Amino acid sequence: MPGAALPHGEEDTGMKLILLGAPGAGKGTQAEILSETLHIPAVSTGNIIRAALKNETPMGLAAKSYMDAGELVPDDIVIGIIKERLAEADCQNGFILDGFPRTIPQAQALEELGVTIDRVVSLEVPDEKIVARMSGRRVCGKCGASYHVEYKKPAKDGVCDVCGEPLICRKDDAPETVLERLRVFHEQTEPLKAFYEKLGKLKLVVGQEDVKDTTALTLAAVRD
Ligand code: AMP
Repeated sequence: MPGAALPHGEEDTGMKLILLGAPGAGKGTQAEILSETLHIPAVSTGNIIRAALKNETPMGLAAKSYMDAGELVPDDIVIGIIKERLAEADCQNGFILDGFPRTIPQAQALEELGVTIDRVVSLEVPDEKIVARMSGRRVCGKCGASYHVEYKKPAKDGVCDVCGEPLICRKDDAPETVLERLRVFHEQTEPLKAFYEKLGKLKLVVGQEDVKDTTALTLAAVRD
């Protein structure tokens, strides 16, 4: 029985996880918590793109117009990003993908890279709640850590717990852009649920009001 004799926590080693869900469903928050709990890195394509944009790299500049409009960045760019990131040393013992894949071709690219995903957790939050939640979302302009004015407050108002930098509103969290992102999610990303269901890897987790409750359900789904 693999893993049976290992000390508590060790059985999670090497897990390769995907968090699916609408923008603002809580993927980033859960990915950060899961990363600490399971000792595997959280890989957010959104954070990687935002960092590239801040540093004005060619990739960041190419992605800017799509991101600002709430559209998906073209598959070839995002697949290139994930290929490079997953080749890094810290990803060799498992990882949590937050925001990738977002289209069927991206999921197929992951398979072509030879990556075997253990579990896919879809965080289920209705659109009405997403719109309300997004208006309260804040992110650190430096490290990308995410907060919420109601559900995930920083220790000090408006300041990042991790690096002490000011918290800002993401440009693509503006209400009209959120509606477009939700439309894109339903059209292009939601079909991934059927894709992973067919592979027997999908678990649905209903997003709760309290972050801790969602974490408990997510961990149970991952370890099931
Ligand atoms: P996120 O922080 O995951 O909400 O991503 C913010 C934005 O980055 C998205 O609205 C897209 O414009 C872009 N993005 C992030 N991940 C992907 C992806 N896997 N495929 C295409 N675009 C992405």
